[in-house]
Amino acid sequence: MVDETRVHSARRYNYWLGGKDNFAVDRESGDQIAAVFPTIRTTARENRGFLRRAVTHLTTEGGQRQFLDIGTGLPTADNTHQVAQRNAPDARVVYVDNDPMVLAHARALLTSTREGRTAYLEADLREPGKILADPTVRDVLDFDRPVTLMLIAVLHFIDGTDQARRIVRTLLDELPSGSHIVLSHGTSDYADAETHARFATMAARGKLDAWPRTRDEVRSLVDGLELLEPGLVPVSEWRAEGETGPRPTPAEVAVYGVVARKP
Ligand code: SAH
Repeated sequence: MVDETRVHSARRYNYWLGGKDNFAVDRESGDQIAAVFPTIRTTARENRGFLRRAVTHLTTEGGQRQFLDIGTGLPTADNTHQVAQRNAPDARVVYVDNDPMVLAHARALLTSTREGRTAYLEADLREPGKILADPTVRDVLDFDRPVTLMLIAVLHFIDGTDQARRIVRTLLDELPSGSHIVLSHGTSDYADAETHARFATMAARGKLDAWPRTRDEVRSLVDGLELLEPGLVPVSEWRAEGETGPRPTPAEVAVYGVVARKP
């Protein structure tokens, strides 16, 4: 059931990206966050740019053909399967999200090329075992071949770095050598004292549903993996040489991105 009275991160993110699939509660929450962190719309756009560049890199130079995209978000421009299948028409993508609104729009995520496949599963990242055991996931993805696990702007909705680490570990343990992870994660590393204080006030009032993490905490999520160049950096700086126009500063973006390979 789509609940119009509760804030949903997918709809709020859609609002920041200029989409129409959001309600008053989502816009209100989006505006409250923007009042404390005015460049949040830049953050959202840069995060999408990271997704596009990472998937492009992995399908072209990386030869990856299978993607498990958890925390899909509402359909927008350049969804994972569109970027992947543009470069590799035989690419297969399984989308996973726990928001019924994303499910309602899932048809837009299922427009696969003839050679490739896409599927959608409503499930929760906090139950990784269920995702891995799901027949749809097993049918579309071949776990004997490399799979790219995409956790883009979703792990900061998981409370506790230990829990986040456990989830990533459980998912990666099931994937063969040569698999990859694409991860982006909000951080407060660049925030000044006043911004920290204002976010703390929001959190105390129950108005904040995300847990930004430090660079070391985000780095710990990909321990034991081989980081692709340029390593763990603000998403705006991940292989962004081809981006034109003025570029935002790391502080304006405040999201780390990393792509890593399972040895
Ligand atoms: N990955 C997309 C969307 C990010 S918005 C992008 O980067 O552009 C975060 C998404 O994660 C939302 O769609 C929200 O519904 C989903 N999400 C949040 N918590 C989740 C959970 N526990 N399990 C599954 N999906 C979750």
